[in-house]
Amino acid sequence: MQTMTVKKKDIRALTKEQLRDFFVNQGDKAFRGNQVYEWLWQKSAHKFEDMTNISMHTRQMLEDNFVINHIKVDHMQRSADGTVKNAVKLHDGLIVESVLIPTKTRTTACVSSQVGCSLDCKFCATARLKRMRNLNPDEIYDQVVAIDKESRLYYNHPLSNIVFMGMGEPLMNYNNVIKAIDKITSPEGLGMSPKRITVSTSGIPKIIKKMADDAVKFNLAVSLHSALDEVRTTIMPFNETFPLKDLKESLEYWYAKTKSKISYEYIVWDGINDSKKDIDALVAFCKYVPCKVNIIEYNPIDDGEFQQASSESLERYIQALEKNKIVVNVRRSRGKDIDAACGQLANKS
Ligand code: SAH
Repeated sequence: MQTMTVKKKDIRALTKEQLRDFFVNQGDKAFRGNQVYEWLWQKSAHKFEDMTNISMHTRQMLEDNFVINHIKVDHMQRSADGTVKNAVKLHDGLIVESVLIPTKTRTTACVSSQVGCSLDCKFCATARLKRMRNLNPDEIYDQVVAIDKESRLYYNHPLSNIVFMGMGEPLMNYNNVIKAIDKITSPEGLGMSPKRITVSTSGIPKIIKKMADDAVKFNLAVSLHSALDEVRTTIMPFNETFPLKDLKESLEYWYAKTKSKISYEYIVWDGINDSKKDIDALVAFCKYVPCKVNIIEYNPIDDGEFQQASSESLERYIQALEKNKIVVNVRRSRGKDIDAACGQLANKS
């Protein structure tokens, strides 16, 4: 005779309402649902047996019906500059990476939104891993909780900021990213201000407009890297499908609705986007909507096809932007020695 094993449900896929209803259907009080919800999210319990204000009988009943698919930090590396990289194992054995970046004034978590990435940016190590799947809201939330713990442990203060600049394209997993951010910002979760959260995208115009319609409160960063279609398409081939004029239009829509400034991430490469024409195009693009430019250092990923431009080239960019009253910051890489810097996340370990 064949025995059927019933697949247990992921309890964190339930909303608070659904959890309350579950307990009512079991003949218990709806309030029990609130208690369990608090254990699952605010207290980040890994096991039902940790839920000490719930009766043994109820904990067993939960155990029989559900699983908590908590992530596990499989491997942790610390860089000479204090950056921490976690290789995070998901319930199905897949791995993503997340990073803790400490500075004097803040600690920032850089989290992943997908296993691998479906975009094909030529300069990014993650692009070489094919996209396996989207992360669930709880898997994104758990990365933040793990980094918050490390921040308290190593730097004696809680996490102050979150950037969605790890593996994957957050706007290709929009619904789950939004659900995770809802939990991160909710008093029933981590209670963080959305102003301390930045979602970075390669630029998916339709979803940028949807975010504006949804009146999201977090910050938007766009990985621009070139304001010329012919250049951007060679380094970020999806630009063919989502050209700059559509991106521009979506950013105008975003700003009109949210009044929130955009950050452009920009790497300058030798011989690729370091000419006067490239600089003029960026300056012109920056005039469409209020913005600032973060020039980020290129982290080589292997074959030398891309080379960081000289400091003179960077200086030409900075001068042109400043002359046009566009705020520009130059960002140094962190955690390079452990492959934890932007674009280096590729599950090497
Ligand atoms: N897909 C999203 C988020 C992940 S990439 C996005 O494109 O924004 C996070 C940032 O790292 C982006 O600005 C990306 O352009 C940048 N990046 C990718 N590869 C890099 C590399 N090798 N060196 C420096 N930055 C890189």
